[in-house]
Amino acid sequence: KSFEDLGLSPEILQGLVAMKFLKPSKIQERALPLLLNNPPTNMIGQSQSGTGKTAAFTLNILSRLQLDTEENRKAPQALVLAPSRELARQIGGVITEMGRFMEHLSVGMAVPMEGKRPSRLEHPVVCGTPGTVMDLIKKRILITNKLKVLVLDEADNMLDQQGLGDQCIRVKALLPKTVQVVLFSATFDDHIRHYAAKFAPNANEIAL
Ligand code: AMP
Repeated sequence: KSFEDLGLSPEILQGLVAMKFLKPSKIQERALPLLLNNPPTNMIGQSQSGTGKTAAFTLNILSRLQLDTEENRKAPQALVLAPSRELARQIGGVITEMGRFMEHLSVGMAVPMEGKRPSRLEHPVVCGTPGTVMDLIKKRILITNKLKVLVLDEADNMLDQQGLGDQCIRVKALLPKTVQVVLFSATFDDHIRHYAAKFAPNANEIAL
C-alpha cells in the first residue's frame, strides 16, 4: 500500500515527497486506514519511537483540518499533548514540515515559556505540554470548541511523571465530546492499558 492509496490530499503527498517519505512504515500502513476512517474512531497504538508514529498521527491531523475560512484557520482543530516541551516542539516541527504545501497551515505551541503570551493562540494545530495547555484553556487563550482531534504521544512517559496523566484527563474533559482521541505509547503494562481505555474509549487497538 502506498501513501497515494490512502486518499491523502495532493498538498500532503507533496509534503511527504519533499521529506523523502516514499512509502508508509509498518505502523503507518496499519494505523492510517483506521485513523482516516469516517466517522472518526479513537485509536490506541503501541509503537516505539523510531517506527514512524509521529507521521501517522500528523497525517491524520493534516487530513482533517478545515482551512477554508479565516474563522476556521484561527480555530484550534487539533491538539497534541506531549510529556516534555522538547518533544512538543519536535512534533510541531514535523507537522509544519509535512504540511508546508498546505495553504494557511500554522502550528502554535503551548509550552512553558518566558515573556508575554499572546492573548489568543489562533492556530489550527496546537502542540504542548498538559499543564500549560490546561492553563491556556482556563485563561481562554486556547479556545477548544472546534477541536476535532486530540493526540496523546508517549503516554507511558506521561504516566511516569507526577500528575501529567491526570492533567491529560482533565484537559480532555474540557474538549468537545466528539473529539477523536489518538493515544500512542511505547509500552503497555496494566497501568497504561487501564489509563488508555479510560482516555480513548472504544478505540481501535494496534500493536507492532
Ligand atoms: P518517529 O517514530 O515518529 O520518531 O519517526 C522515526 C523516524 O523515521 C523519523 O526520523 C522520521 O522522519 C522517519 N520516518 C517516519 N516515517 C517514514 C517514512 N514513511 N519513510 C521514511 N522515513 C520515515
